[in-house]
Amino acid sequence: MVRFGPSGNDIKFYADGNQSSVDAPRWLEKLGLTAYEISFGRGIRMTDKTAQVIGAQAAAHGIQISVHAPYYINLANTANLEKNYHYIKRSLELLKVMGGNRLVVHTGCQMQMTREEALNNCKNALRVILQRLKTDGMEDYWLCLETMGKYSQIGNLDEVCELCSLDMEHLMPTVDLGHMNCLAQGKMNLEKVFQQLKIFPQVHFHISFIEYNTKGEVRHVTLADEQFGFNLSLVMKLLRQRPGDDVVISESDQIMAQDSLKLRDFYLQ
Ligand SMILES: [Zn+2]
Repeated sequence: MVRFGPSGNDIKFYADGNQSSVDAPRWLEKLGLTAYEISFGRGIRMTDKTAQVIGAQAAAHGIQISVHAPYYINLANTANLEKNYHYIKRSLELLKVMGGNRLVVHTGCQMQMTREEALNNCKNALRVILQRLKTDGMEDYWLCLETMGKYSQIGNLDEVCELCSLDMEHLMPTVDLGHMNCLAQGKMNLEKVFQQLKIFPQVHFHISFIEYNTKGEVRHVTLADEQFGFNLSLVMKLLRQRPGDDVVISESDQIMAQDSLKLRDFYLQ
């Protein structure tokens, strides 16, 4: 069964009187959702204690937790390999305490390099990181490499698929259809995308509408902002043809849980 849920907390979550993410699993179950993504995008500030409470709540309410690793990870930057390893390992440790195993990671930026050079750096960094995680005894985890929304970032679908092929037991794509729609300037070919995903039995999805300009992504909007949208009925039809263990996360602006419900209803139709 495909799981649906938000990244972060909806304005309705707070309007209903909740204050902290430890209350989210109970609230999400009530709404009828089954997944929840927690962002360490701006830093890893969660304590082990909080992670334990969220983990217990998630288990009690049937919510699968995923985590988004810090945005400042850039695997193309070889000088930062040690730091990047630490951020990924720490994120995975907290994720494990919360009972989840999917860590969303942005691969990196091209910076002053050629595309090929940057991609090669990312590959080498991933090889080192996967080896060290093994040495450090980490198992049962997925690094979900995300398709990105700006041309300057490494991570179009071809690149993400190529990187994931390095280790199909620990790497899977985070297919961010909103980002991909930005790169395609609104002309994404969904059939082709899902065709390319057939080699992956499980995929992590981010499905939101995102405003774009000539450089790509500008900002996340909501499913009501249809001028930046794509064909959700077709997405759900293609999703129903997949094996079924996918997770769909909404990163809509402010109403991510309400939009998750919309996505789930499209899927069930
Ligand atoms: Zn992301």
